[in-house]
Amino acid sequence: MEFISTRDITQKRYSATQVIKNGLSHDGGLFVPEKFPKISNLANLVGMSYSERASLIFSKFLTECTQDEIDEITNKAYNKDNFATDSIAPVYNLNDTAYFLELWHGPTCAFKDVALQALPHLMSLSNKKLKDVRQTVILAATSGDTGKAALEGFKDVDGVKIIVFYPKSGVSDIQRLQMTTQKGNNVMVAAVEGNFDDAQTGVKNIFNDKDFRRDLSRDGYTFSSANSINWGRLMPQIVYYFSAYCDMVAADEIALGETLNAVVPTGNFGNILAAYYAKNMGLPLGKLICASNANNVLADFIQTGVYNANRDFHVTASPSMDILISSNLERLLYLLSGNNANMINDLMTKLKNDGEYTIPDTCFAMLKRDFYGAWCDDNLTAATIKDVWDNFHYIMDPHTAVAKNVHDQYINETGDKTKTLIASTASPYKFADFVCKAISNQTADDEFEYISLLNDITRLAVPKSLAELKDYQVRFDAICKKTNMSDFVRMMV
Ligand SMILES: *Cc1c(COP(=O)(O)O)cnc(C)c1O
Repeated sequence: MEFISTRDITQKRYSATQVIKNGLSHDGGLFVPEKFPKISNLANLVGMSYSERASLIFSKFLTECTQDEIDEITNKAYNKDNFATDSIAPVYNLNDTAYFLELWHGPTCAFKDVALQALPHLMSLSNKKLKDVRQTVILAATSGDTGKAALEGFKDVDGVKIIVFYPKSGVSDIQRLQMTTQKGNNVMVAAVEGNFDDAQTGVKNIFNDKDFRRDLSRDGYTFSSANSINWGRLMPQIVYYFSAYCDMVAADEIALGETLNAVVPTGNFGNILAAYYAKNMGLPLGKLICASNANNVLADFIQTGVYNANRDFHVTASPSMDILISSNLERLLYLLSGNNANMINDLMTKLKNDGEYTIPDTCFAMLKRDFYGAWCDDNLTAATIKDVWDNFHYIMDPHTAVAKNVHDQYINETGDKTKTLIASTASPYKFADFVCKAISNQTADDEFEYISLLNDITRLAVPKSLAELKDYQVRFDAICKKTNMSDFVRMMV
């Protein structure tokens, strides 16, 4: 399988290992497969384990790797040591239409683990295949969950250093503690004075700085990314849509071939894009419902075809979706435009200069056919958590609740009761304070007391990694200005 950059009009080809190793294309574009392989024999996947399903899907893209090499990666990533359940990403049936795809049973309790448990192994294999002996410096900007999941995935991996930037006032207490107490000899964490978009732009600028890259290369280092701009993040996310579908077939919840809708709480557009890729590969998915919080730039975009990032940035109860520049949308637009790099360059220049762009009517029509977008604020998020708890005794984190609320809006508006997978992207314990206040009048003094309170009320087991957090030492308290991120990196490597 060959890959191209969304901004390269010459359409130069790259292998999967090259794109995983490099993360971002040097022209600022994102790597995408030139076409999507089809999974024609869905029935065969039904009897497989999660790691076998992952191997099959990875092998369609990693065509220069052997099946043994791929199996080794999926076995190391998807097992009972890393995930609290054999099924890795279990499906919870709420009622006749809503099915939660629980993606938070990994080491850091958010869906990012599913990809970031595989990415370090994918990178090692890529370096080996490409005979690159330089050290890799992984840079990650995080809106809360990527950072921890990347640190956990890459800690003490040979030949790798990882540096994570998080927005100083943009993550929950638990998210911050998870990162600042991170163990490992090759890890570094810094707060950025700014929001997620500032952190992400800073990281992208470092990637695109030719001089900096040359200096590092001379010192024996090369950069890569653990953000969902890296193909190695997206590919593993395709797997769980296939896996959930097959689990539902196996459980007689749906018939093979039946259409499923999917709702995804969205920030950087990585997770929902993986669903769209799965659909392109032949998974019978219907509407893809994009759920936003008060940072509703994507909801507006899907409704109007105008992407306008010139708006106030809101800090919300679902911080991992507090994003105004959704990077992976570029990959969707590339696909909708029929691989038109000229159009992408034009739109991305407009975004950079004016903060907005409008897509052509043909692209907008295709967007509307497959996607629906809506949003909900923090009050509605809390009300949705309470409603589902009161009626079903199922407890959701705020991100998942945004998705559930938007699904309800979708049903009200369209009457479409197609069975629907709702991506459940974090453990409610990661946001115990907000979740407790949504369902009870009791209050507590700190985040850890909220964890116990939530456990008292719901009896849902507290994930071990969160329970232990309060005993860990804070190791990283550096704060850097958004204009000084590259100095920070120079200091660290
Ligand atoms: C990252 C994240 C999201 C947003 O996912 P994208 O792929 O960036 O759209 C939603 N919920 C949680 C809990 C997350 O960590």
